[in-house]
Amino acid sequence: MGECEPIYEFDKPREACGVFGVYAPGEDVVQLAYLGAEALQHRGQDAAGLMVSSSESGMYGVKDEGLVSEVLTDNVVNGLKDEKAHSAIAHTRYGTSSQAGFDSAQPIYRELVNGRHFALVHNGHIEGLTSDNKSDSETFADMLVEEIRQGEMIERALMRVAAKTDGAYSIVIMTDDRVIGLRDRNGFRPLELGELKNGGGFVIASETAALEQIDADHDRQILPGEVVSVGSHGIWSDMYADPEPKLCAFEYIYFARPSTEINDISVHEARKTMGRLLAEQGVPEADAVVGVPDSGVPAAKGFSEASGIPDVIGLEKNRYISRTFIKDNQLSREKAVGLKLTPLKSEIKGQRLIVVDDSIVRGTTTRALTSMLRHAGAEEVHLKIASPPYKWPCFYGMDTGNPDEFLANQHNYEGMVKELGVDSLDYLSIDNLKHSVGPMAGKICMACLDGDYPTPKTVK
Ligand code: SF4
Repeated sequence: MGECEPIYEFDKPREACGVFGVYAPGEDVVQLAYLGAEALQHRGQDAAGLMVSSSESGMYGVKDEGLVSEVLTDNVVNGLKDEKAHSAIAHTRYGTSSQAGFDSAQPIYRELVNGRHFALVHNGHIEGLTSDNKSDSETFADMLVEEIRQGEMIERALMRVAAKTDGAYSIVIMTDDRVIGLRDRNGFRPLELGELKNGGGFVIASETAALEQIDADHDRQILPGEVVSVGSHGIWSDMYADPEPKLCAFEYIYFARPSTEINDISVHEARKTMGRLLAEQGVPEADAVVGVPDSGVPAAKGFSEASGIPDVIGLEKNRYISRTFIKDNQLSREKAVGLKLTPLKSEIKGQRLIVVDDSIVRGTTTRALTSMLRHAGAEEVHLKIASPPYKWPCFYGMDTGNPDEFLANQHNYEGMVKELGVDSLDYLSIDNLKHSVGPMAGKICMACLDGDYPTPKTVK
C-alpha cells in the first residue's frame, strides 16, 4: 500500500480521468475548456491542465497538480485567452501512486519536424506502452510522432497507432487546425461528441454532463474503435477496428456524474434502478433508508420507492476536504471518513437504518462508516450494496490493489457481516446489474464482478 492510500475514495475502484476538447473559432474556447474541466472534476482530482491552439500564438497551456480551480485560477484562465484561439483541450487526472505528481499531469505536447504541433489528453490505460520511465500516454504520443508522415492526415497516423495497441482508453488530440477523439475498440471509457447550440463549434468530452455545462447539444457517442475529427472540415470519422463494446460497468455504478447519459441511459436512473432491484431482492424491517453520498444516494431513492421505507439524508458530505489535505496529513481511514462524511444525528438516532452504498472493495472505509453511524445512535445498520461483490482484479486500468485483500475474497457472508459491523448485508446480483442498464446489458464489462474478462488478461 502506498503512502497516499488512506483516503475515503480509496476503497473504490480508481482511475477515471476526464478528457475534454473543443473546436470553435471565434468562441471563447479557453472558457469553454475550463468549464468542461470543471464539469469533469469528479473523474480526477490529482492534476489538471488546459492547452490552447491559436492561429496567431501557436500552442500553449498550463498543467499542474491540484483541482481545476487550483490550477486554472481566474488569472491563469484570463492569461490563456487569445482572440485567435480556435481550439482547446483540458484534462482532470486521477493519479495512481506509480504515476503521481506534475510529470503525470496532462495535456502532453509534441512538436513535429515541419513546425506542426499536437497536444493529447488521455483517460485509461494503454497496454504495454510504458517504457523508459515514460507513462503510456507519453509513449503513445511518441508513437504518433513517429507515424505522422508529411502531408498526411493525422487521423490516419492515429488509426495506425491505435491499431497497434490494446487497452482501455479514450484520447482527445488537438492539432493546429482540428480536435480529434478516439476510443479503444471495446469502449471501456466513454467519449461523447457534441455541438455548441449556437452552431459555433464542436466538443468532444468524457461525459455528456460536460456538454450540458457549456450549452452544447449531445450529438452521439464516439464508437468503440472509432476516430472522429472536428474542424473547418466539419465532422470526419472512420473505424480503425471492429467495435466490441464493453463499457466499464463502474461508469454506471460509481464514476460518471448522475446527470450524464451513456448510450442514452441516464446514470441517475440506472442507479435508481439498482436500488429498486436491491429492494426486490429483500427488505429487512427498518425505519429509514440512507444513501452514502454521492453515488449511493440515487440507489437509496430507488430502494425507498420500491420498499415504501422513507429515505432520509442521514449523511452529510463535506465537499471541501481535498485529497491533498488527507494525503499530506497521513490521516487514517477512520479519520478521513469522519472528515468526509458527518452523520445527521436527528435523522439517525434510535432508527433501524438501511444504508445503501455503491460498492465495496476492501471494506475498511465501510467499517469506519458503520461505526460512525452506530456512535450517532443508529439502532440497526442493514447494508445494501448497489453492485455485485468485487472479487477479481481489473486488467483495464482500474487500480484496486491486491485481490487477496478484497472483502468478498476474505470472508463468507457471516464473516463480511462481522467484519463490517452490520446487522445484515446484501449485494445487487449480476442479473439485476444487467437489468439496471437495460439495452447495455451484454455491452458492459463486469469482469471484476463476475470474472468474465472481455479480452485476454494481459492489459495491466
Ligand atoms: S474489470 Fe471491467 S468493470 Fe471492473 S473496473 Fe475494470 S473495466 Fe470496470
